[in-house]
Amino acid sequence: MKTAHKSLYEDVQVQFNKAADLMKLNSGIRNILSETANEIVVHFPVKMDDGKIEMFTGYRVQHNNILGPYKGGLRYHPSVDLDDAKALATWMTWKTALAGLPYGGAKGGIHIDPAKYSQNELERITRRFTYALGNNIGPEYDIPAPDVNTGPQTMAWILDTYLTTRSQGERNNCLHVVTGKPLNCGGTLGRDRATGFGVVTNINEWAKSNKLDLTKATFIVQGFGNVGSWSAHFMKEKGSKLLAVEDVSGIIYSASGIDPDDLIEFAKKNGGKITGFPNTVAITHKEFLSTKADIFIPAALSNQITIETAPLLNVKLVAEGANGPTSPEADTILQQRDIGLIPDVLCNSGGVIGSYFEWLQNKRSEYWELDEVIEKVRKKVVEAYTNVSKTAASYKTDLRTAAYIVAISRLESAYKERGIFP
Ligand code: NAD
Repeated sequence: MKTAHKSLYEDVQVQFNKAADLMKLNSGIRNILSETANEIVVHFPVKMDDGKIEMFTGYRVQHNNILGPYKGGLRYHPSVDLDDAKALATWMTWKTALAGLPYGGAKGGIHIDPAKYSQNELERITRRFTYALGNNIGPEYDIPAPDVNTGPQTMAWILDTYLTTRSQGERNNCLHVVTGKPLNCGGTLGRDRATGFGVVTNINEWAKSNKLDLTKATFIVQGFGNVGSWSAHFMKEKGSKLLAVEDVSGIIYSASGIDPDDLIEFAKKNGGKITGFPNTVAITHKEFLSTKADIFIPAALSNQITIETAPLLNVKLVAEGANGPTSPEADTILQQRDIGLIPDVLCNSGGVIGSYFEWLQNKRSEYWELDEVIEKVRKKVVEAYTNVSKTAASYKTDLRTAAYIVAISRLESAYKERGIFP
């Protein structure tokens, strides 16, 4: 799968301008939302296992915080750069506003291929990155979370490093500096599955209004990490059949279906990789994208559905588990081909909604039951889906533009009510 692309931030601007034109957004507020608030780039040294010192570059872009603290994930990947972080931070502003959360948008990460480093090195890299970010993150200011190649362990290291730099009296008030933590470090039940659960909740809503019977549906998934694997698990619960999966190690296909839960267990024992799963055959990337199925869930990286690949898809619905998998040109092709699309800012919002409930529990020193968390996530996702589909109908537009309109309207109201200092 190709990951090179033109500017992702330009794609975000194209999507934003389309919605802003349609909703006749106030021009001053349009100027504000067209820019990121802060772009932090840090270069920091880390001692490797062999004693040598290597320099790393990390990013944190904070797009907007009119509705609440900046919120968004940290990604460890060679594709991480300022442009990607700006795009991903802006999407977080739309996502949190759309979900009705008291948050703004941020994103960041380290330009690194984590597969090349030992666990001890990754711990030191994470701790030095956290130290370098200093007061640019904080439980009421900017709250990171997991993203590609980061997870609960990464969050635990960030938490520990952040707390170590606080005064003794402050430490217990700072557990919510990151979300997506392991349970014993203040994490919540359900955060692990929240994004995938939200993806499938959205698919379920779309299926109801488009008369797609999920008990007979087939689907394919790109990326089998947190989002892809949990999405596949919940699709299985709906009775749908998984035909093909692509991850960084390759692609597997089975016409009779792949059991997502067995594949999760297999991948756990296989360094996270899916290739070699029994009773499947290897297919090419082009064959994967052309697989006839009802639903495609991209759950890996951005810019996968492009002007070149959109014509290949043989599905009824694209449900964007990943952030930014579809370019604006590909959006147009999918619309012309009558392929439905649930946009990232809506489709994967279960993750940040789950994070919000973790943050609330930390602030209140509470632990909630799994069912309670999942039901709260479901309610918020359905509410967002309903708002978006009503807005799409009233503006006669696609779900992505409608999602932007709902989100941007909330931000516009806040700016109009508060005004601009001085
Ligand atoms: P992850 O690191 O857990 O998994 C990433 C998956 O993508 C892995 O299976 C990996 O093999 C695969 N992948 C990486 N490079 C690939 C390539 N070149 N070709 C094919 N597959 C490749 O990451 P994740 O947390 O599941 O995130 C996946 C996507 O979902 C990202 O776009 C992320 O921004 C988005 N997202 C994640 C969350 C969350 O809660 N984790 C929330 C919202 C959105």
